[in-house]
Amino acid sequence: MFALQEIDRRLREKSELVQTLEREIAELETEIVRQRAHTHTAQAERDADEARRRQIEAHIADEEEKMKDRRMRLNRVRNEKELQALRREIEVGKETTQQAEEELLGVFESLETKTAAAQQAESSLRDLETTAASQMAERQARLHQLRSELEGERVGRTQVAATLDRGLRVKYEQIFDRRGGTAVVEVRNGTCLGCHMNLPPQFFNELQRARDVRLCPSCHRILFWRPERLDQTDIPR
Ligand SMILES: [Zn+2]
Repeated sequence: MFALQEIDRRLREKSELVQTLEREIAELETEIVRQRAHTHTAQAERDADEARRRQIEAHIADEEEKMKDRRMRLNRVRNEKELQALRREIEVGKETTQQAEEELLGVFESLETKTAAAQQAESSLRDLETTAASQMAERQARLHQLRSELEGERVGRTQVAATLDRGLRVKYEQIFDRRGGTAVVEVRNGTCLGCHMNLPPQFFNELQRARDVRLCPSCHRILFWRPERLDQTDIPR
């Protein structure tokens, strides 16, 4: 039963490690997805500013063309009324261009910030993808190894479990689950090493004599007793 407990502890430890590694891989994947979304947002914001910049520049160029045309028409005006109208048109055109140029300055400023933010996000994403890739590969390799080890442990467990009485094995499994992976404990100097309580002398005497399966009256674990050797220091802990 001690052998079974050793196998079960390894199984439990390795299964927990598998879960931890799987969770860590999932977290890395989530982190990459998050950073990718952040990068896309930053790029979209930069692209929107870039589009607005081109739009304003096209508008300014268009207005310059119109202004050339107005200046040409200025040479051909025939009366005062036409001159007044054209001058007003030129005035409005200048104002429009001025407003566009002011807006363009704002867009340039914003574009600079957005470009830097997008570059920062892209570079963070590249770094993350590189480190996460190696971290994930490392964990995948460890997982692969653990899964094959677990497979081997399970085969071993079936073999060991088959040698035990069924009722006893069921009892053992219940205690193993309930008692945090310690179902079988040794008795030394009349003390249960599971809970460190001294066993009642009468109970201990019976345990030594009967050599059957008994549970600790205090922690309810399966007690394992073997005749103590003289040189106590040799007993493995
Ligand atoms: Zn106990």
